[in-house]
Amino acid sequence: MPTRLIVSAPATGKTNACIDEIRVVLGKYPLAKIRVIVPDRLQAAYFRRRLSASGGSIGVYVGTFNDLYKNILEKSGGYVPVASNALLHRIVQDVVDTTPLVHYATLRTQPGFILALQDVFAELKRALIYPETFINSSKGTSLAQQELAQLYVAYQTKLRNMGWADFEGLSWLAVAALEESPNLMENSMQFLVVDGFDSFIGTQRRILQLLEKFTNLLITLPGDVAFSRTAHRRFARTYSSLQKEFSLELLIDSSTNFLPADIAHVESHLFTSIPTSIIKPIQPFLRELRSPAEESREALRWIKSLVIRTAIPLQECAIFAPDLNQYRPYLHSAALEFGMPVHFTQSDSLTTSPAITALLHLLSLPTQNFRTNALFKVLRSPYFSFGLPLETIDSLEQISHIGMVVEGREQWNEIWERLSPSGTSSPFDLDDERTLKKLPRGIAIQALQTHLDDFFQMITPPEGVRTQTEWTRWLEDLLTNLHFHENSNGEQDEIALEGFREALRALVMSESIVGARVVDYQQYLSDLQNTLAGSALSEPSAPGASILIGNIREARGLRFKAVAILGLSEGLFPSVERPDPFLPESLREELGLDSRLEREQGSLFYQAVTRADAHLLLTRPYLSEDGELWEASPYWNAVESLFEKNTTVQKIRPDDPRPLTDAASSQELLFWAVRRKGLPQHYADIETRWHQLQHARDVIRSRRAKLADGTYEGATHDLQTELTKRFAPEKVWSASRLETYGTCPQMFYVKTVLDLEVTAPPSLGLDIAQVGSILHKVLEEVYRTADNPEEVESVLKRLPEVAKSVFATAPQDFGFRPSELWELEQGQFIAMLETTIVALAKASEGWKPMAYEQAFGIQDTPPLEIKLEGEKVLLRGLIDRIDQDADGNLRVVDYKTGSSHLSKEDLMHGRRLQLPLYALAAKEALKLGEPIEGMYWKIRAAESGSLKLSTFKSETGEGIEVAIQTSKEHLTRILKGIRTGDFPPVPPKGGCPEYCPAAQWCWRYQKGGW
Ligand code: SF4
Repeated sequence: MPTRLIVSAPATGKTNACIDEIRVVLGKYPLAKIRVIVPDRLQAAYFRRRLSASGGSIGVYVGTFNDLYKNILEKSGGYVPVASNALLHRIVQDVVDTTPLVHYATLRTQPGFILALQDVFAELKRALIYPETFINSSKGTSLAQQELAQLYVAYQTKLRNMGWADFEGLSWLAVAALEESPNLMENSMQFLVVDGFDSFIGTQRRILQLLEKFTNLLITLPGDVAFSRTAHRRFARTYSSLQKEFSLELLIDSSTNFLPADIAHVESHLFTSIPTSIIKPIQPFLRELRSPAEESREALRWIKSLVIRTAIPLQECAIFAPDLNQYRPYLHSAALEFGMPVHFTQSDSLTTSPAITALLHLLSLPTQNFRTNALFKVLRSPYFSFGLPLETIDSLEQISHIGMVVEGREQWNEIWERLSPSGTSSPFDLDDERTLKKLPRGIAIQALQTHLDDFFQMITPPEGVRTQTEWTRWLEDLLTNLHFHENSNGEQDEIALEGFREALRALVMSESIVGARVVDYQQYLSDLQNTLAGSALSEPSAPGASILIGNIREARGLRFKAVAILGLSEGLFPSVERPDPFLPESLREELGLDSRLEREQGSLFYQAVTRADAHLLLTRPYLSEDGELWEASPYWNAVESLFEKNTTVQKIRPDDPRPLTDAASSQELLFWAVRRKGLPQHYADIETRWHQLQHARDVIRSRRAKLADGTYEGATHDLQTELTKRFAPEKVWSASRLETYGTCPQMFYVKTVLDLEVTAPPSLGLDIAQVGSILHKVLEEVYRTADNPEEVESVLKRLPEVAKSVFATAPQDFGFRPSELWELEQGQFIAMLETTIVALAKASEGWKPMAYEQAFGIQDTPPLEIKLEGEKVLLRGLIDRIDQDADGNLRVVDYKTGSSHLSKEDLMHGRRLQLPLYALAAKEALKLGEPIEGMYWKIRAAESGSLKLSTFKSETGEGIEVAIQTSKEHLTRILKGIRTGDFPPVPPKGGCPEYCPAAQWCWRYQKGGW
């Protein structure tokens, strides 16, 4: 009996016709065995629902082709177990390892190669290409093709020898079973309906051919009598292949579709060269949004309004996108915000789960030589309990930054060695160029080393090779010790962990089936990663009805009341078609595989737009990520051209005011109300949140204002008591601390009151404090030990030896691990110091060095005490050098590695106070004599700064006393500000310093930097 083929346009009742036929058969033969095949589980559920609604589904089995294959194999007794993804991966891996390869030799160890081969083999099998066929067609062709054919043969042979099948292999076995026993299903299937397909692959056509001989076969296909429309090309191709392989009785159904007017108009005219009529839509249904994120919100908002206003059930709504991976996160978060249950047709990969990502980071550490960045991410991960207190991790991280530990246990061992001797680094903050961060030393270092060594020990895999089962056991023990399972306790984590355990079981099972795979750790990790990448992360089950979200190609055969299609911009849909690197177009043609370059995406679009029985929404993003205008998809243009100009498309800009009644969540409602500058009275239930928002707006507005217009910015007056106690008159200050307040009070607050520091990943090269400390130390030593420090030759003569000795102990003294640059840096430092010594000698005529590194207020030396309007301040410091002239007068010299902010203005504004205070200290604290001069010396630039105390001028006069008085006035202001809690952020002239810890969040931050 011929196979009947119903051909008719979408939404003309093909599924209804199938159901009517089923009812007729059941009416005549109530015990008839009827089977319905649809493309996937979604459609099976949909068909069953409609069948039940038509009068019951007893006696009718609705399933997919795979269900049919299994059924045939069960009947034939030839059912074989289906290999899991992990097992298939292992088999392909073995095949690649044992097949001699030349062309693909370099790809052999690439994990992506195994996954790509799995896809190629699956496609070949789906198309019913037997290994012999492929081998024959590859004779005399390229080496690549010949090797691919050999791999395919080896794969198929291995699978068969093991007695397992891959997913596609089930169809082959079913075909073979039916070929061997053509009557196998005779009594099990009196009527077979195949509905919802627009194309058939090789194995599907073959199985239907074998079944058509003894069953009444009915197939449906979208299209029309001529199959001449562009939108029908995909169906025309299917029709032509069915015509060749079946004896068909064509049943053309010309019923009019039941689509609403606008969608019916699109269905009738889409992609026709000259539409017979141009109409005005009932309402615009094409919406342009700025980005995929906003498209996703718009689609869900549109569905929510339909559900609430027109009572459409949730399960009657669907969203389709060309690339679900791109849209999934946006749809997910918008659905959560809008309180709308959704379910995705495709699962994410297990590797997207945070718990599995953290686990892979942990396991990759040994293979990446414990890269420091990754190491601290792992140490701070909430998924593992390493037994390390947070302060220990903080200390380790600080050591890695200062000690330049970029990776590896060796670098850590070097830094332990340098820090093990008891403290030699200066505990005092002297100035920003010499203040070394306080690093733990001595016993504290030994404790840290033990902690880190234990950690390394714990996660370092055993050396050598092991079977996958042994590696898995090691991994399970490790995760138990780290309490990984207890720490992964959210719903999502638990689902991910179930998938993970499944993947481990599959790895172990693959060994018991294929044989032991003895690999090193790197290979085991790669196998595990591939297995996890191929495993799905199931969605938490949503109870009750939900909106379906799927890929556009899954839309065929389903019907909904409301359908939204996203992503109709150039490059998104139709997606860019690229040739297959493994199966080129010529080979595809020869083997009868579908082309990769002519996938007739137009037909997919045509089917998707005709899925909506009542409401259709098409959206597209109009701006690309880089802010460029994004062209519309040709499919979008094709729909737009069917309607009167400017009647179908709405462009929705983020700033456009929208009716509050369209808001899909209370957050959105408030957001739009803010834009409108008012919340209508009838929204009393969210009035409290509205007032909170207004308050937040005021805060943000004042933070963003160019000028502070409130009296509270930076004011922490509530802390006065605490601040007065902490910064009491007995506290001994360094000039640089007070200068920080002078530079920006808020920076002082963050650095000193809150004790926050800027952290940066470890990098090669010394930091500014380490360079400053080394150069200061060499200069001090070289002048102190020169035979005649007044004679430049004598000083230069000492330089190489002194520098060598300072450099030799510098890593230990200043807590860093010498990088490859260290040798080079030493040479550069010596050259720089030679130049600066010569220049300093010229600038010192008439002056004779008398003291170096002269401390005051440090250890036993007396501090400088300054009396200020009713209070006093104590200061400490280290004067780099003090010179004396023939009359016994003094000059203070302060070395600086940097060159900026050493001018008179910096003293005038309170950003630099050090020089006059040091001059005063030489006189009053150290009682060395009368200072008449002071200058900064720029070591790198080999010149003095422009500020000279003897020539300092202000409105009140000129000279060193005026400079000292100016400093005192600033001290008064600064101390008062600190003790009263006055810390306004004031960006310094020229921009904020990079080292300001507040730069990341400060609302007054100004780019520039010191
Ligand atoms: S970022 Fe600028 S304004 Fe803000 S605290 Fe730092 S230095 Fe001051």
